[in-house]
Order: sequence, then C-alpha cells, then structure tokens
Amino acid sequence: MTPFDTVAIVDWSSGNDTGPKPRRDAIWIGQTRNGRDSEPYYSRNRADAEAYLSKLIEKELSAGRRLFLGFDFPFGFPTGFAQGLAGKSDPFSVWDWLEARIEDSPRSNNRFDVAAEINAHFPGIGPFWFNGLKRDVPGLPRRDIRNGHGMAEKRDCEGQTRGAFPCWQMGGAGAVGGQILTGLPVLNRLRRRYHDNLAVWPFEACEAAVTLVEIWPGLINPVVKRAEASGGIRDAHQVRLLARAVAALPPDALAAMLDVHATEEGWIMGLGHEDQLQNAAEEQQPLRPPPLRNDCFALPAGVDWTPVEDALRHLQDNLHPVVSTETLPLADCLDRVLATGVAARRANPPQANTAVDGYGFAHESLGSGDQVLPLVDGRAAAGRPFGRALPPGHALRVLTGAALPKGVDTVILQEDVTLGDGKIAFRGGIKPGANTRRAGEDVEKGDEILSEGRVLTPADLALASATGLARLPVRSRLRVAIISTGDELREPGDEAGPGQIYDANRPLLLSLARKFGYVAVDLGRVEDDREALRRVLDRGSVEADVILTSGGASAGDEDHVSALLNETGAMSQWRIAVKPGRPLALGLWQDTPVFGLPGNPVAAMVCTLIFARPAMRRLAGETWRAPHAITVPAAFEKSKKPGRREFLRARLRDGKAEIFKSEGSGRISGLSWAEGLIELPDGEIKVQPGDPVRYLPFTAFY
Ligand code: AMP
Ligand code: MG
Repeated sequence: MTPFDTVAIVDWSSGNDTGPKPRRDAIWIGQTRNGRDSEPYYSRNRADAEAYLSKLIEKELSAGRRLFLGFDFPFGFPTGFAQGLAGKSDPFSVWDWLEARIEDSPRSNNRFDVAAEINAHFPGIGPFWFNGLKRDVPGLPRRDIRNGHGMAEKRDCEGQTRGAFPCWQMGGAGAVGGQILTGLPVLNRLRRRYHDNLAVWPFEACEAAVTLVEIWPGLINPVVKRAEASGGIRDAHQVRLLARAVAALPPDALAAMLDVHATEEGWIMGLGHEDQLQNAAEEQQPLRPPPLRNDCFALPAGVDWTPVEDALRHLQDNLHPVVSTETLPLADCLDRVLATGVAARRANPPQANTAVDGYGFAHESLGSGDQVLPLVDGRAAAGRPFGRALPPGHALRVLTGAALPKGVDTVILQEDVTLGDGKIAFRGGIKPGANTRRAGEDVEKGDEILSEGRVLTPADLALASATGLARLPVRSRLRVAIISTGDELREPGDEAGPGQIYDANRPLLLSLARKFGYVAVDLGRVEDDREALRRVLDRGSVEADVILTSGGASAGDEDHVSALLNETGAMSQWRIAVKPGRPLALGLWQDTPVFGLPGNPVAAMVCTLIFARPAMRRLAGETWRAPHAITVPAAFEKSKKPGRREFLRARLRDGKAEIFKSEGSGRISGLSWAEGLIELPDGEIKVQPGDPVRYLPFTAFY
C-alpha cells in the first residue's frame, strides 16, 4: 500500500468549550505532512474541530495527498452491542444511531441522556455508567452497580493493553465513553460527506484517499513522558509525537499494523507493535524534511536581467528548511535555530514577589497620613517564604525576590522607614502594589516566548530556563560544502608556476559559512575536469545540505559547474542586475542545492552575502530577513548608470562611509580593507559627499 502523505492525530474530548487559550484536556490535533511536523492545533470545541477536519480533508484531497486521520477513541463496542442497540452487527449502524440522537453544542451536549437511552436497550443495569451531571439521569447509575446487561467489559484489543479504559465509563479521569458518544457522530458525518474518498479502518479497505484510524497515545507513553520534561501541554505532545511516529514508520511496519481483520469491535492501531511505534516517535530520531523541488531555482522565462529584489523573493518563496529537527538541552542550544515556537511552562515571576528589600503589608490596612505598623516575627526572603498569612495591620520584613505571603500586596523600601521598638514608621501616600512584581507580569504561563526560526541568543536561553523549559526543539546545523574550481588554482604553501594563483575563495567561503553559524565542509579544489567535479559534487551531496562552488559558473567551455548542473535538468542561470556579479548557476545535485558562485573573489563574496546568505537562512530554518542596514553620510563622490544595483566595498570612519579606492573586481585587498558594503539603488544616482547612503556592515550578515 502507498504510504500516507499526511498524518493527523486527534485527541478528542467530550467536554464543553475550553476557551481561546490552549489548555490540556481539550481537543488537540497533531500533524506531519511529507515528513514535516507542524505545531499541534488547539481546538476549543467539537464544532470547531469538525470544521477544521473538514477543511483539512478538502485541502489534502485537492492536493492529491493521502491522509491518515487518527482518533483516540474506540470506533466500535464489544461484540453483540450493535445487534443489541441497532438490530445489526454492522458497526456503522451504531454510528448512524448515535448521530441521530446526539445533540451537541459548545456549551452542552446530551451524552449522559443518550447513554441512559442506550442502557434501556439492554437488560439489567448498564452497560453504561457514571453520571457527570448534578441532576440524576434515570437509567444511568452514578456508581458502578451494573449487572445483568450481558455485554463484555472490554473489547478484545483492550484486553491486551494496560491502562486502556473500557468504553462503558462515561466520566472520571481517563474515561472514554463520552468521547465515543460525541465523537462517532462527527466521524459519521465526515464519512457521509467524503464517502468515496474516505474509508474507516479496520471495517473497510484502506484504499481511499482518507483513512480514519483508531489510535491510542498510551502506546507511546514513555516517549510522551520524556517530551513533557521540556514543558508544554501533554495532549499536544501526544498528538505531535503520535503523528510523527505514524509518519516515520517504515511502510512494511505500517502495513503490518494495519493488517487487522475487520470486526465489529474495531482495533487500536499499533497494538502489539509498541516498540516500533515508540522508536518511530523518538525525539532523537531526526525527522528530515523533504527535498527541494526540482524547479526551485527556475526564474520566470524571458527576463533578461533579474532585479535583486525579484531574485531574493524567488529564493524566499521557493526554498524551505532542509535540515532535521532535534530536541536538545538548553546548554546545547546557543546559536541554534528554533524549530518550532515554544510556550512558557511557568509564569515569570511564578508568584508575586518583592522587588526591593523592605517591609511588606496589606495596603488596605493603612489609614491616612503617616503610618506606624507593628512588625511580626520572622521574615520572607528569596526561596524562603514566610509560610503563613500576615495578620492585617502588621508589617513583615521582606528581602528582594521573596514571594509575597497572603496579606501582603505592597512593600515599602527599607530606606523609607524608621525602625524601632518592633515597629516601622513611614510617611503616607504609598501606592497599592508599590515595589512588588505581579505574578506573570513578565510572561504568563502558556505565552509563546520564542518563535520558530529564531537563532537562539544567550538571553533566549535565560528566558527559556526562567519559564521552566529544559530542552528546546532546534534544527540540526546546516552543513555547507565549499568547492573551488579552476586549473589555475594552487594551495598556499605550494609552488605556483606562471599562470597559477593561490586559492582565495575557499578560505573566504569556509570562514563565512562558519561566521553564519553553519558547519563548513571543505571539499577542496577541483580542476576544470567534468568527471573530477562530478565526484566532488557527489561527495558534497552526501556530506552537506548545501554546496557552494566558486568559478566555472558561466557558460564558457571551461564552465563545468554549469555544464554538470545543466545535465541534471534542475539548473538555472541567474543573470542578476547586480555589480559586482557574474551569472550564478543555481541547481540541485542529487537533491542538494548548489550555489555556483563567480570565481572572482569580490563577486564571490558579494554574491554570497547578498544571495547565498538569505537562501541558506531559509534552508537552515531561520526566519527570512534582510540584513539591517544603516543610513550614513557619504564621504565619497560617485555617479552610477541605471539598470544594476551596485555594492561598493566600504567602511565607516568618523560616522561617514568611505569606499575603497578601486572597484577592480580582483582586488582582494579591498575586501580585507572593507568593513561592510555600500548599497547603491538600481536606478541612476549621483552621490555627493554628505549625501545619505545605505551601509551594510559585514556583521549584519552574520
Ligand atoms: P571563472 O568564474 O572560473 O571564470 O573565474 C573568474 C576569475 O576568478 C578568474 O580570474 C579566476 O582565476 C578567478 N578565480 C576563480 N576561482 C578562484 C579562487 N578560488 N581564488 C581566487 N581566484 C579565483
Ligand atoms: Mg575557472
């Protein structure tokens, strides 16, 4: 069978609307599409979830993708139930029966009454029990006093698990009865709405585009537990991990798990294969995103010289992260790219505390004018709470960072009181709440503290730690392979004969890659020989996520980089309206993106900073952004013709931008002299000394 393109896992809930703020014990939907996880979706009620799932199904159908849609409640009941309720042993007769009776809205539903109505179809007391309502529901016992109803307590599959609840219990921690009664009507509607395109496992063959499958997060519990250590909401971890587990299963393992005989009872997918599921869910197993599309570098045809902006927009739109995701302890996260946004596990500060050393009291207990308050024995210090409530009309010695005990909402600075005789005296007029920090005034629990694509700074790690996070999901570091091409190149230290030059680009590009925070892979020099270059590119595609070559990127006889990339059919010559710059050859070599940079060192550096750098940000999972430029007065004079954007080697002195004395594109000394670039606009311009110009310090690219 074909593997699924998209896996979505739903953690259902039978309760009422849970409000706008993501919380546990609500509905959560985890998703992995083409091997890439997305942040779990929080759904506040079933109507919203049903709408979301319908939209998801439609999106997948129109994109021609196959969807695995898992739900964490039983699709069937113990054998004999369908016959007893609906007169047929067909499980869908129960789905129809329930859909006709369940009334559901975000504020209330009639699941307990429907459970009682079902009980009336069976002899004795039960099979459903537990009434979560204040009012009695005739026919639905509050406690388990069931007997004589004739139904098995568990389905076959539940007999083989530990911790799975029987479907008869309508409430209490872990119970699943209410979820079945509120869930199956929704599934039944999806089934009718998308009939030919949707199958229900294991009752129907899984050949349709969409398959509904019963799953159970309990099967990967150890992995969920470990993930919870990094904070976040358990339900969100469950659906996220289960989605990636199903998505990461080898096709034959998935096929084996789905190879279950259709029964009236249904089955929990993966039961008996827990090890395989857990392995597939494991955080440490990096999940690799899909490769880039073959035409990702194809610029629109017919444009002679592409403006810089268009070239950049093309890169932004057509590239996506190519590196996998791993979860690491904070200590290993500096300078890494955050793979998904993360939320505070705890508020900061977690409880109200004092911002100064002083005396705390209840503002309410103050009279007007100057104050005298008796001190109680003891004190509150950071990490050493007072431990009981402060009686009204008293004051307590408090030290910076101490949690405010009950009865304290205001603190007076120790410098502002006179102390004596077991009392403090101070002037009136202090404001309520003075010198205190409110719980959560900095960050509330559940707030997104860091967003996806951020390169983690020391302060970010402080914030993550302060809000209770021990580990963060980060991208693997982008590996950048560097290759120099040209018969004329020699290694520094070697003999160099006439016509030979020492390689300047490799040290330049290797160290730029490191400055950008990537892993630089040195693939050496290659002569202008197609087969030798082919072998090095092969190596690059294995050892790196992106390859930067310099030289041989034009269309001449010895331009083997473009010739080889052309062979793959995924190459594009980029003629960008930029100076300095020569054609760039962009392509894929065995799915690995290749930037064929000009050989000329000045052009190689400018093209790397202006084009390869933002492209690599995208590949590395970083947020796309332009380098921060500053506007400064020019210390030079320069006229330029319209048509090309121009970058000049420049540096700031006395607050003004100077430019290098020569624009010669082979002048490596100018690169070394410069501390940044002046960016002159595409159009015609005459710069006079003192005119404002855009200056991009090299540090803006790092
Ligand atoms: P190409 O793009 O191969 O035609 O090279 C353009 C110019 O850049 C030629 O003058 C090359 O010798 C020079 N060049 C190419 N690669 C390097 C390198 N790695 N270091 C210094 N100069 C180079
Ligand atoms: Mg060359």
